[in-house]
Amino acid sequence: MTTPDERTGKHACVIAVDLGATNLRVALVTGTGIAERTRTAQMPDNPSGAAAITGLLIRNIRALAPQEEIAACAGIGIGAAGPVDKNHTTIVRPPNIPLESVPLADPLTEEFGLPVRLVNDCCAGLLGEAYFGAGREYGTFVYLTISTGIGAGIIANGSVVAGRDGNAGEVGHLFVDSDYGLPCGCGGKGHWEGYASGRFLPRFYHAWRRKKGLTEERDVVSAPDVFRRVRDGPDPSAHGFIRELGRINARAISDIIVAYDPEAIVFDGSVVLSNPDLILPPIEEYADRYLPLPRLTVSSLAGHAPLLGASVIARGYMTRFGPVG
Ligand SMILES: [Zn+2]
Repeated sequence: MTTPDERTGKHACVIAVDLGATNLRVALVTGTGIAERTRTAQMPDNPSGAAAITGLLIRNIRALAPQEEIAACAGIGIGAAGPVDKNHTTIVRPPNIPLESVPLADPLTEEFGLPVRLVNDCCAGLLGEAYFGAGREYGTFVYLTISTGIGAGIIANGSVVAGRDGNAGEVGHLFVDSDYGLPCGCGGKGHWEGYASGRFLPRFYHAWRRKKGLTEERDVVSAPDVFRRVRDGPDPSAHGFIRELGRINARAISDIIVAYDPEAIVFDGSVVLSNPDLILPPIEEYADRYLPLPRLTVSSLAGHAPLLGASVIARGYMTRFGPVG
């Protein structure tokens, strides 16, 4: 795939935004995909309204560069956690932000006078990998992020699979299990995200221990706690959980493989980036072999794929693939 520069010859900087469930990252990105200045802020736990989020975003963009430099940018691109509306202006019913909707494009255009383009963070990560990361090598690949939530972006035969509203790839809601019956943040039951996402992984760990008749571990409250328990704990039974997690992950990965027949799956997100040795080998072991196993690889962009993809969107390159205008 050609780089944005090769395609249009534009060299202007853009503002890229990665609006996650936990953190907000903004950067000034050059035409060659270098995030020159980056700022990170924590998302509010319980925002009083959408203005709390847009205000945080505006303050952090302002702090990146003087007004003249921002005004000279080609645009603002946002990859945001949660489904986006048809017009690519607003996040709607985000499962990890307790608000009905968060309009982003209009307030930012009003503030900075720049075109603003918004896609979901998986689509942004996908484009980051496609233009600057491992995805450059493949015509058909899946970008899969396992962090607070789980989601994917797909490029099939060189084109983004966008879906009706640009929200294809919500694979966190694939059905993976009926034994534990754990509820998902979306209200469904047995969905992958309700087991293997950073948010729900500790709950799955405790459910697995109960099922095995093992003692309760009240001090394990986060995904890093679970992995620490596996790495440092004296109890070898904790390793059994890694196999069970691998079985659940492989169930969903097997579905993704038969749906898209990808050459590669590029894994991203904090849960995988911190623990590739515990996550990937069990998937390889348990995944179905109805189709040949694709290459399973970890993103080389150090968690910046959504931010770099947002810079691609800021330049308007999504128009080649889908409905983002
Ligand atoms: Zn769900």
